[in-house]
Amino acid sequence: MSGRHSKHDLETTPDDKLLRKLEAKWEDSPTRVLRWHKGLDVRGLDCNSAPGWDGDKDDGGALVAAHAEELSELQERLFADGRSGGSRSVLLVLQGLDTSGKGGIVRHVVGLVDPQGVQHRAFGVPTAEEASHGYLWRIRNALPRPGYIGVFDRSHYEQVLVVRVEGLEPEETWRAHYDEINAFEAEVAAAGTTIVKVALIVSKDEQKARLTERLERPDKYWKYNPGDLTTRARFGDYLDAYQELFEKTSTDVAPWHVVPADKKWYSRLAVTELLLGALRSLDLGWPPADFDVEEQQRLLAET
Ligand code: AMP
Ligand code: MG
Repeated sequence: MSGRHSKHDLETTPDDKLLRKLEAKWEDSPTRVLRWHKGLDVRGLDCNSAPGWDGDKDDGGALVAAHAEELSELQERLFADGRSGGSRSVLLVLQGLDTSGKGGIVRHVVGLVDPQGVQHRAFGVPTAEEASHGYLWRIRNALPRPGYIGVFDRSHYEQVLVVRVEGLEPEETWRAHYDEINAFEAEVAAAGTTIVKVALIVSKDEQKARLTERLERPDKYWKYNPGDLTTRARFGDYLDAYQELFEKTSTDVAPWHVVPADKKWYSRLAVTELLLGALRSLDLGWPPADFDVEEQQRLLAET
């Protein structure tokens, strides 16, 4: 299963002993540690913590680097499976308030695999066309095709987050979305998509520090949006909305994972491990040749 036999970059491949040592710094499987469970209240979460991880920042970075090759090989197997008629795909759903680090996850974690195999989509305020359809329309259109890793930067969950907090729909309308979303995700999972839902939870103080930085650095102005302050003013309401969303939409086929996001190195490590766990669980081999290998070798030799 591990991909430590590719011809290139053998020198940069850490030996198995180091890899095992780093993996052992997880006290339990990250998927289990981070999975939302009854009784977990996001409003009391220590956003600066590193749950389940018994190492420091350097260890975390080292494990991400050490797992990059396996992640990349498993993505290639998934892609090959899709090319050979397989129906499987993976969907990483990233939710989090402004500055929670969703973009960094896409660059640093998803960036570890071949971009050809990734279908990335960021969801903003619905366009006029999107708004003329039901809220799942644009989501369905962006679902990963077989063989792909889909990445949603924000998602259908905005329909029970910003829509709720800003009162964009009446309560009975947005409340009905929990069941609709569960039914939708069950359908997506049944069609072969492994859904990995991640909520990056940044603290209010850390958000202030990150927004302050955006206003102090010309190279960060582009990330700043005056509207972020409107959202920030409702920080507590958003956490309430997150809490209810976890309670209503963390299902067996599509559980939520709650990731403290004040330490960027930790959230990147955590999402790397969640994505790796999902790919490992597919247990994919390489598709067999659909041609006669020996015959092709003979024909090639004759050329
Ligand atoms: P950003 O991720 O910083 O580019 O911001 C995207 C913005 O789009 C956020 O303020 C979201 O709250 C907003 N947004 C995303 N989906 C919806 C939706 N369904 N309805 C209203 N606003 C949305
Ligand atoms: Mg923003």
